[in-house]
Amino acid sequence: MIIVLKPNATKKQVDHVIARIKELGLKPMVSKGTERTIIGVIGPEDVLRVQPLEVVPGVEKVMPVLKPYKLVSREFTPEPTIVDVRGVKIGGKAVVFMAGPCSVESREMLSDIAKSVKHAGAQILRGGAFKPRSSPYSFQGLGEEGLKYLREAADATGLRVVTEILDVRDLQLLERYTDMIQVGARNMQNFELLKEVGQSKKPILLKRGLSATITEFLLAAEYILSQGNFNVVLCERGIRTFETLTRFTLDLNAVPIIKQLSHLPVVVDPSHGTGSWEWVLPMARAGIAAGADGLIIEVHPNPEIAKSDGPQSLLPKKFTTLVNEVQRIAAVVGRA
Ligand code: PEP
Ligand code: MN
Repeated sequence: MIIVLKPNATKKQVDHVIARIKELGLKPMVSKGTERTIIGVIGPEDVLRVQPLEVVPGVEKVMPVLKPYKLVSREFTPEPTIVDVRGVKIGGKAVVFMAGPCSVESREMLSDIAKSVKHAGAQILRGGAFKPRSSPYSFQGLGEEGLKYLREAADATGLRVVTEILDVRDLQLLERYTDMIQVGARNMQNFELLKEVGQSKKPILLKRGLSATITEFLLAAEYILSQGNFNVVLCERGIRTFETLTRFTLDLNAVPIIKQLSHLPVVVDPSHGTGSWEWVLPMARAGIAAGADGLIIEVHPNPEIAKSDGPQSLLPKKFTTLVNEVQRIAAVVGRA
């Protein structure tokens, strides 16, 4: 259920509605827009039939949300959400570039990549310190050492950091080093992890599961918002299909569909979405043309020897070309 307050509702009235919702044993989730305040009501809503909130002063209307996800829906927040990653805004007019290696491999390598992606125009440094590998024998990441290198390289260049969490027990550790926490495709339905990051103050980059429908993807985001963390950016990173010439199938349908259904920003990952550096540039352009708020791109100085995802990593020079070309598309679709 969504409670829409009148544009001129006073703070006292808003507080009273919130108190009333709590008294009824429900959980209020407040969204303050520029024009009006909307309160999402979570919990067994049947009680509202007996004790209607329409009659409470300051309330304009009470609307049922028919979609299974509530807080992520456009009904709840009609205006687009802008997620602030320590000053870098995702979901505003400007397109945001996140770039870096798949895995943090060494201090020197990360420092070099940070400098080159910053120079090319990226705002956020990506890199995994805890890696979700298909095989237990593959490189698993440098752990805390990797987090230190990320922080150091980002601070030296003025970039922000996004890195993946694999285990709820690492949350505090990650919070110490990173500006944004990535929940990877393989953990999109790790509901305990979603609830835990929902209690964090850090913005979350939630990647779509390999076989998740758009509705399941939005419900995963709902888990995070329902815990109070509204700073969620969704990432389309490709899904499993019958196609074998690409690693995954980048589902760009998801971009305009999510933009219509949800207020959350959407970014596209053409690196994992294609699995091959050759297709990264065209699909990055397509992602922005489709309305994405940003891109996350894997970049490596020597993809041949990368410890993970070399075949889909761009050389720094190619990433510079990508930023320049994408900016031209961005201008055409009215983005800065
Ligand atoms: C990654 O970003 O390196 C990664 C593992 O992504 P995904 O979860 O989308 O596979
Ligand atoms: Mn990767």
